[in-house]
Amino acid sequence: MSSTKAQTQFNQVLKTEIESIKAAGTYKSERVILSPQNSAIRVAGKDGKASDQVNFCANNYLGLADHPEVIARSKHYLDTHGSGLSSVRFICGTQNIHKDLENQITKFYGTEDTILYASCFDANAGIFETILSDQDAVISDSLNHASIIDGIRLCKAKRFRYKNCDMNDLEARLQEADKAGARLKLIATDGVFSMDGKIAPLDKICDIAEKYNALIFVDDCHSTGFLGPNGRGTAEYFGVQDRVHIVNSTLGKALGGAAGGYTTGCKEMIDLLRNRSRPYLFSNSLPPAVVGSASAALDLIESAKTNGLFDQLWGNTTLFRKLLGDAGFTIKGDNHPISPVMLGDARLASEFADKMLQRGIYVIGFSYPVVPKGEARIRVQLSAAHTEEQIRQAAAAFIDIGRELGVIGAKSKL
Ligand code: PLP
Repeated sequence: MSSTKAQTQFNQVLKTEIESIKAAGTYKSERVILSPQNSAIRVAGKDGKASDQVNFCANNYLGLADHPEVIARSKHYLDTHGSGLSSVRFICGTQNIHKDLENQITKFYGTEDTILYASCFDANAGIFETILSDQDAVISDSLNHASIIDGIRLCKAKRFRYKNCDMNDLEARLQEADKAGARLKLIATDGVFSMDGKIAPLDKICDIAEKYNALIFVDDCHSTGFLGPNGRGTAEYFGVQDRVHIVNSTLGKALGGAAGGYTTGCKEMIDLLRNRSRPYLFSNSLPPAVVGSASAALDLIESAKTNGLFDQLWGNTTLFRKLLGDAGFTIKGDNHPISPVMLGDARLASEFADKMLQRGIYVIGFSYPVVPKGEARIRVQLSAAHTEEQIRQAAAAFIDIGRELGVIGAKSKL
């Protein structure tokens, strides 16, 4: 560790910044999990004692993060293709399994081609500046994920922002883009907004896009693999798969939970991305073990209707929302596994979450600036891995603590 004057000054600047985060109440400390990701996890305590928790925080929607078939293929690819490529794709980092996974994803969506990235954050960072120029316009939902916002910041297109899922505002921004003489117009939206469990109205977005001759980009991280009759995501949920032009998504949530992301769409776009997209060109290939877990997860999703994964996930979601709704809680969003239990006050949300943890239910309170002021909440995420008993255990804890803290009436029923 350096002891130079520059290091001392640097430390002081960093300390001041960290203190300001703490003073704002937004400092994040990480809990350490000692087990694989699952609905039941073992968590290291601050006092050094570990505890067993029922986990309602993961994006492990289908419970595939430690599925035996996912682990088996991951291990198999490690044996057959090694730990990694030590290379970017275009130098010597493309293996047959990368091409196979890209083809598998293309087939999954019925698109023309797919490109893999180290993460969906990278896919979002790399797409806008590659496909749009200063002659074009991007019209973005105000609640889009940080990685979409960063990706758009990198591109030279004219930028317009519409109010979250507000179709009148979207239309007004498209008119502005037309007035500004935009060549291509690209509407960018999350498929599902992760803080709210709200599903973007893609059917309406498609109608408006077609009226204004605009393209549609969807970040489907919180719907890939389970939303829609076959788990194809938000577009399939609304029956508009053939009207959406670009889908970016992650392999790090429902699709095995390891890491990785992708863009899927027309072959010309994928060709251009392979040649120009900076996070693809200048970053290492996906490790074979990660390719293996995603590919096995996609196979499991192909048979999700018969292997019970979808029934389990949606049954759990409906049960949890009903138990808490009947007890008098307000749950935001559409009928999505992201089920935000609204509490309003930031301190209340944090106290509530701490008490839940003491009851063995692992949930996190979210408050400003992650969500708007006065809209603090506990974001519960359901998974196919949860048992009915675990859902009822969580609901009982919510109700007891809700009564104790005066969030719901004393006579609320379970
Ligand atoms: N987009 C959305 C909507 C997300 O929720 C996330 C992850 O939290 C990402 C992109 C980034 O995905 P990844 O973890 O693959 O980088």
